[in-house]
Amino acid sequence: MSRHVIVTGASRGIGAAIAAHFIAEGDTVVALSRSGEAPEGCALSLAVDVASSSSVAAAVKSAIELHGPVDVLVANAGITRDGLAMRMSDEQWRDVMSTNLDGAFFSARAVLSSMIRARSGRIVFMGSVSPFYGVPGQANYAAAKAGMVGLARSLAREVASRGITVNVIAPGFVDTEMTAALGTTTEEITASIPMGRMGTTADVAAIVGFVASEAAGYLTGQVIAVDGGLAMGL
Ligand code: NAP
Repeated sequence: MSRHVIVTGASRGIGAAIAAHFIAEGDTVVALSRSGEAPEGCALSLAVDVASSSSVAAAVKSAIELHGPVDVLVANAGITRDGLAMRMSDEQWRDVMSTNLDGAFFSARAVLSSMIRARSGRIVFMGSVSPFYGVPGQANYAAAKAGMVGLARSLAREVASRGITVNVIAPGFVDTEMTAALGTTTEEITASIPMGRMGTTADVAAIVGFVASEAAGYLTGQVIAVDGGLAMGL
């Protein structure tokens, strides 16, 4: 049966691969991103800044009016604004917290009443291994992604009895525009990864697909690292 899936940050990178994964499964995919671009096959694509509570609420309302209750939310939109903490501006801190953490909360809150009424749903947050590892230059990003774990686990307890699962996927290094901007060579990155390669967007999309599946109905409040072993044991 076709599900109604909303993916934020679906215009490129990991989000685009996740949207493509669900489209291939025959699902109805609504893509939200700042640019409003989306992979081919999305049923609806809207330009939304996830840091704006009212914009997210309006976009989800339109999606529900067009495609019915939301079965799956993948809150994937994220940014980095790296800098050493002592030189990090208020703006760098706030931008990253707003998009990564406020955006995840606004997106989840917007789909909750629809999922609660349906007594089923899957919420998947795109976290990172960074809060478990600690990354110099990413105090803002690691803090936002750590906050997402608290958000997910609290929400998981609030809605478990309604048949809704809430989990965090924590990728390591995945080959996208975000990692291209890191200024580190591929060799430097892969040297720290037990599997000896960066992740692909498809590696992450496959795990998101499983966590959102019917088969994963007993999995909630978990942080699942998709990192080639990078952060194992942390
Ligand atoms: P990316 O290629 O830079 O794509 C980021 C996506 O987020 C784009 O679709 C972008 O849309 C969207 N976005 C950014 N700010 C937004 C906002 N305010 N409102 C709506 N959409 C917004 O990044 P990526 O590597 O695919 O990362 C996707 C997610 O995975 C992020 O949450 C990131 O933190 C996480 N992650 C990535 C890695 C990695 O190694 N790549 C590792 C761990 C976690 P526009 O293009 O329209 O701006």
